[in-house]
Amino acid sequence: MVGYQGEEKLSVVNGFEPVIGLEVHAQLATDTKIFCSCRSSYGEPPNTLTCPVCLGLPGALPVLNKKAVEFAMRMILATGGQIQPRSVFARKNYFYPDLPKGYQISQFDKPVGLDGVIKYRLESGEEKVCRLIRIHLEEDAGKSLHPEAGEAYTRVDLNRCGTPLIEIVAHADIRSPQEAYAYLLKLKQILQYTGVCTGDMEKGHLRCDANVSVRPEGQEKFGTRTEVKNMNSFKGVERALNYEITRQIELIRSGGSVTQATLLWDEKRGVAEMMRTKEESHDYRYFPEPDLVNLVVSHDWMEEVRRNLPELPDARAERFVSAYGIREYDAQVLTATRDLADYYEEVVTHAGDPKAASNWVQTELLGVINAAGENIATYKVRPNMLGELISKIGSGELSGKMAKIVFEEMTVSGRKAGEIIKEKGLVQISDDTAILKIIDEILAASPDNVAKYRSGKTNVFGFFVGQVMKATKGQANPEMVNKLLKEKLDG
Ligand SMILES: [Zn+2]
Repeated sequence: MVGYQGEEKLSVVNGFEPVIGLEVHAQLATDTKIFCSCRSSYGEPPNTLTCPVCLGLPGALPVLNKKAVEFAMRMILATGGQIQPRSVFARKNYFYPDLPKGYQISQFDKPVGLDGVIKYRLESGEEKVCRLIRIHLEEDAGKSLHPEAGEAYTRVDLNRCGTPLIEIVAHADIRSPQEAYAYLLKLKQILQYTGVCTGDMEKGHLRCDANVSVRPEGQEKFGTRTEVKNMNSFKGVERALNYEITRQIELIRSGGSVTQATLLWDEKRGVAEMMRTKEESHDYRYFPEPDLVNLVVSHDWMEEVRRNLPELPDARAERFVSAYGIREYDAQVLTATRDLADYYEEVVTHAGDPKAASNWVQTELLGVINAAGENIATYKVRPNMLGELISKIGSGELSGKMAKIVFEEMTVSGRKAGEIIKEKGLVQISDDTAILKIIDEILAASPDNVAKYRSGKTNVFGFFVGQVMKATKGQANPEMVNKLLKEKLDG
């Protein structure tokens, strides 16, 4: 086997460079389907969300969903592409048991969006750019439910027929499976920020096909490519690409050549199998959809969608750095999802300390949420509650240690910090006189250690700090204890 993983230079393997182009289908988060008013929903009983239009009954006519077009426009603008003032729907003809019309309404030579880029970052921090060719609108097909053990038939569920999709077609700018993974993460982030798609790959809301070829290092011309389909997780895409790249390199090195084909990835077995030799676009006999007029996007509508575009992840991360003074890395983590970024910003408004808020959200909060598999948008410790807790450290009411105890309690009971503090009697002692009194008692009780300290064995200082904290049940303000103790012992 050609070892792919662990190579120093990721993009070149045994003298060959992979060339990868990704095509991503994103299911639009509209309430209804693209050409009828059936609800677009996942997980409903089979064949309950259908009507004559999405069942493809003769004479039924499609009517375009405006929201679906708006979502496509958002994604085109968010990726810096060009919305086409006039685009055309086309019939893509093929037979599938779960495609009752015998064709899919898509866009062919006149898509709604052209160009654009996805800028993404590798784990190493290196920045990459992948150019987009197009973004077009289309409808989804139904689903064949193949027999499981003991079942005799394949069943067809047409609930998904007519679900609105955009297909985001990229140039073959990607050079390694790791890059493909990072590209997909970024794409999902933008889809989620713009509210266009949930990005849930497990539910099939995001699907990725990959064109893969390899070429000798330094060669300009692309090799013969294959298309890999059926990958249902980002890690699955990375694994499938590793597999296919390795297969192609071994084939060429042993004197063979790559045949253009479509392969199906089998996640369980970790192999990609030949499905069919690759079809060309002319096999689909595309022609303009006669039941739909051209899609015309006015300048005003385009501007309206542009105005309403939310702040995008990169811009938001930059603002976090400049407005809150946090590190770039932290800003990247905190803007990973829109929900997390919203949460953090609300914590900041209540905490009054953006850096402390950044630390608390990243370590304490995300620690608990990830461990428990909770959703930040609905988590019981709301951002105002966490912000209030952090503000109590800033004001000296709580030590960091005490705040962690309170936070733990908040994650169990969902109660507010104030209530827990009152109940547990957790009040930090920040009063000079009170702390000095305790210090005097402790020094008086350990004359030997005081003598040691004054003779230069200053490492007994920690002993005194420990004694004070013990005497105050950890409630003395540690900074003040340190300062007052030092004054007493040195004075
Ligand atoms: Zn319908």
